[in-house]
Amino acid sequence: MININETNKKHCCGCTACESVCHKKCISMQTDNEGFKYPVVDKTKCVNCRLCEKVCPILNKTHNVFPNTAYIVRNKNSEIVRSSTSGGAVTAFSKEIINNGGIVFGGAFDGNFYVKHTYAETESELSKFRSSKYVQSDMGTTFTEVKQQLDNGKFVMFTGTPCQVEGLQNYLRKPYDNLFTIDFVCRAVPSPLVWEKYREFMEKKFGSEITYANFREKTYGYHSANLTLRFANGKKSIENTNTDYMLKSFFKGICSRPSCYDCKFREPGRVSDLTVFDCWNITRYVNGLADDDKGYTAVIIQSTKGAKLFEKAKHNLIVYPADPKLLLENDGHMAMENPKYHKNRKEYFEMLNNGYNIEQVVKKYIPIKISRKIFGKFRGFFYKTGILRFLKKLKIK
Ligand SMILES: Cc1cc2nc3c(=O)[nH]c(=O)nc-3n(C[C@H](O)[C@H](O)[C@H](O)COP(=O)(O)OP(=O)(O)OC[C@H]3O[C@@H](n4cnc5c(N)ncnc54)[C@H](O)[C@@H]3O)c2cc1C
Repeated sequence: MININETNKKHCCGCTACESVCHKKCISMQTDNEGFKYPVVDKTKCVNCRLCEKVCPILNKTHNVFPNTAYIVRNKNSEIVRSSTSGGAVTAFSKEIINNGGIVFGGAFDGNFYVKHTYAETESELSKFRSSKYVQSDMGTTFTEVKQQLDNGKFVMFTGTPCQVEGLQNYLRKPYDNLFTIDFVCRAVPSPLVWEKYREFMEKKFGSEITYANFREKTYGYHSANLTLRFANGKKSIENTNTDYMLKSFFKGICSRPSCYDCKFREPGRVSDLTVFDCWNITRYVNGLADDDKGYTAVIIQSTKGAKLFEKAKHNLIVYPADPKLLLENDGHMAMENPKYHKNRKEYFEMLNNGYNIEQVVKKYIPIKISRKIFGKFRGFFYKTGILRFLKKLKIK
């Protein structure tokens, strides 16, 4: 049986394949003191059939061939591009599934800004999936719901982290022609507890409830995306990776799931049909194209089914062919590289669990430089005058 404890947490990505497959219903996902969910087995009910081990994507990791086809794309609808993380590719693929009577599963905020997997059956509902939420998504009963829809003969699209996609495919235990999966190049998934503490702190600081959240708002362009919060009292918080407590915690490697620091799914070839990621350096791949700072998505074709879906969705996209090796080595390097583990990760969580707020914890372990804060205050001005773009261009070169 699956046995995850304090000593081997990095061997569980929390995908829920084991919980979903258990006929005896003796596995439940329980939240630990870092906010991550792990399977706990009720040994009195377990009949030791070992199905949970057979579907675990970490215990049964498959290896896939290096992909040979890639594209850089942008949705033709500018509003979709504006509200998406990169170029709005995922919406174009999802739309194709919806227009064929299908259902799309993905990560979204619920009414309390908790990140969970849910589904959409109409084109307008797809907006809730747009823009990356840098928090581990709660899968709930998604895997069993996906299976039900597949067995009913519906087209199903599932989007998620590489481990969620591989976990789903293992849970299903057979290929389905009506299933389409999209994963992304994934740095890591941050803690839902940190996200909760962050929201609590920000609501107190701004004296009002959060009514809107976006981890990658393009207010100052794609290259300078911000975590933006809006509050019921009309106030707004716009902070970047250097000044925001949540983003800084994520990018400093201090609050991600233990399995992400030694991720078994960091490979160019995936079990998914399509892999998507940020295309930061469009001018490096497409000769003569100027970077308008609106964002492009890099897309890797991982299967014949993925290639077919791409062909069908193409009419909604601006498409540039690209070299997959070049794309992955540059913008997609997190497909191969683990994030660094922050040496004070344990102390960071201890402090957070001992009543300190996120500002105090960040100040102690990953302090924000005064110069960054001052620069952050004038970002609006730097953006309007073109200075921000100039500085970003220098950095990219
Ligand atoms: C946690 C996380 C880490 C990432 N790390 C990297 C990285 O290191 N390098 C890189 O190039 N790209 C990374 N990405 C992918 C990137 O941010 C974009 O999602 C990708 O470029 C596609 O952009 P888009 O505009 O085409 O799609 P979008 O419209 O932005 O669609 C995003 C899709 O991701 C899904 N999603 C959003 N949040 C979650 C979540 N928490 N869990 C599961 N699914 C979710 C949604 O269902 C949606 O289908 C990451 C994304 C996430 C969620």
